Amino acid sequence: MDKFEELHKGWAKVPESKQIQMDEAKKKECICPKCPTYTNCAKNAKELLFCMKGKSFMCVDKAVECICPSCPVTGEYGLKHKFFCMKGAEKAQRYENALWGTKIV
Ligand code: SF4
Ligand code: SF4
Repeated sequence: MDKFEELHKGWAKVPESKQIQMDEAKKKECICPKCPTYTNCAKNAKELLFCMKGKSFMCVDKAVECICPSCPVTGEYGLKHKFFCMKGAEKAQRYENALWGTKIV
């Protein structure tokens, strides 16, 4: 079990209201607004923390670059993926990889 899986196991026991508080606090560390892929639409909708919350709601449609690997949250949460605003949260991308693996390209 890797770091993200360990953390996820712990988060599953945290009440939803506390999880929302934790996500709101973590949004302050999100560096997405500095990323060239981030848009004004996403800014106006206050979209952040895509790695946990999932894809942008119709505000990001062109992948330019992803600076998630240089975000402190990546190391802290043990994230393995990126482009969360377009591809979905870490959990969702892990699930898709587990389903499809590398056999289907
Ligand atoms: S890893 Fe990416 S999506 Fe997650 S908080 Fe950092 S910049 Fe935002
Ligand atoms: S998830 Fe990655 S690609 Fe999307 S805005 Fe954040 S840093 Fe940029």
